[in-house]
Amino acid sequence: MTDLTRLTAAQTAERIARGETSATEVAEAHLARIEAVDEKVNAFLHVDREGALAAARRVDDKRAAGRELGPLAGVPLALKDIFTTEGVPTTVGSRILEGWVPPYDATVTRRLKDADVVLLGKTNLDEFAMGSSTENSAYGPTGNPWDLTRTPGGSGGGSSAALASFQAPLAIGTDTGGSIRQPAALTATVGVKPTYGGVSRYGMVAFSSSLDQGGPCARTVLDAALLHEVIAGHDPLDSTSIDAPVPDVVAAARNGDVRGLRVGVVREFSGEGYQDGVMQRFTESVDLLRELGAEVTEISCPSFTRALAAYYLIAPSECSSNLARFDAMRYGLRVGDDGSRSAEEVTALTREAGFGAEVKRRVMLGTYALSSGYYDAYYGSAQKVRTLITRDFQRAFDSVDVLVSPTSPTTAFPIGERADDPMAMYLADLCTIPSNLAGNAAMSLPCGLAPEDGLPVGLQIIAPAMADDRLYRVGAAVEAAFHTRWGHPLLEEAPSL
Ligand code: GLN
Repeated sequence: MTDLTRLTAAQTAERIARGETSATEVAEAHLARIEAVDEKVNAFLHVDREGALAAARRVDDKRAAGRELGPLAGVPLALKDIFTTEGVPTTVGSRILEGWVPPYDATVTRRLKDADVVLLGKTNLDEFAMGSSTENSAYGPTGNPWDLTRTPGGSGGGSSAALASFQAPLAIGTDTGGSIRQPAALTATVGVKPTYGGVSRYGMVAFSSSLDQGGPCARTVLDAALLHEVIAGHDPLDSTSIDAPVPDVVAAARNGDVRGLRVGVVREFSGEGYQDGVMQRFTESVDLLRELGAEVTEISCPSFTRALAAYYLIAPSECSSNLARFDAMRYGLRVGDDGSRSAEEVTALTREAGFGAEVKRRVMLGTYALSSGYYDAYYGSAQKVRTLITRDFQRAFDSVDVLVSPTSPTTAFPIGERADDPMAMYLADLCTIPSNLAGNAAMSLPCGLAPEDGLPVGLQIIAPAMADDRLYRVGAAVEAAFHTRWGHPLLEEAPSL
């Protein structure tokens, strides 16, 4: 009998459409898998068993009535717990929203439901998506299915771990500085940060609004494309949403031809701090691209070396402002409201109890950087660096079609190793942050295991804004060639849980 949890999303949808299996069977198989392994992995903060089975039943009824099904109808999905879900708890990994049940759906949630995707539940994340290991979650860390003593990356570690442990074939993440791509790299899954504005932020709890971008996570490039198509597109409820046609990512994922494509290797993404095995697999990927007919050159983007510093001023600044709404008056937790205290005191007590250390650190950093007298020196300078980074990209894309780099400088690190060292944690996003600052599109996909530790390495592909389809074209080519070389998808080498 086929194990339904091992199929790709495309295969699952096809089987359901043909009537070879029911959406209910598929949902039940995934719920059973969650039951069996998630105690060890901790990918989910909330499993919506009833909701998932009801959604699956609707798909089966629709099919029985002869009504048309969308391309992902009946496929289960794990949703990062940063998107609001009507009637289903949304915590953002924080105590401050514990028990909060949103009265409305995020646009992403709504589009998934409209496409008959089956929402299994909400996945774990670093509190307010601030982190690179999921250890900043108020609800305990998530384990990496490749080695449960290691982190699956972050902030979207729950989503990537759910995919890598076959608890869901599809997931949604958000990427402010790398939180879709870095977890994808550390778990041998595929993650895409679309062009900024490509996927609506409405109902996505804000961390750093000019950087935050929701996007698809999957186990194959085609599955990511199918999901991308469902969630992307203009949304009048998000003023930064792009009002233009979505690039044809599905056609690109089915094409996978890179002959004549100009690929730039970013010179600045190598050297000190990059693990040997990561660089080895990356170099092999570049050789592979050459074998597949791409023209490879080296490109220098000198301002990228300042990206981390600029990001850690801009992101905390925006977060300090965004998180001001958690004032104990409107949502979730309220501490000390016994009639003896002022509203200000209740707000302060609630924020003290409700926010974790990393969130407080960033709110303080951001408040400082934005305060009068320091604004130009910190926030203003960071914005100038942001412009320089955007120009580096523009110059690069004058001569190449895509850029490539490792996604993360290292493989999955042990839980606890960087927990008390914010700087070491911040370095995980060295290669991913420039694309958030510039707003362009980027993907991570598996490119092998590092020989020294046997853990997954991710290849990052970067495309200009609004050229998300290029990611899928290159990704599909690389994925197909690697599968032929390995004889199977990389995830099949992961230990069984
Ligand atoms: N690790 C980065 C941070 O902590 C990125 C997080 C994200 O992309 N949400 O800010």
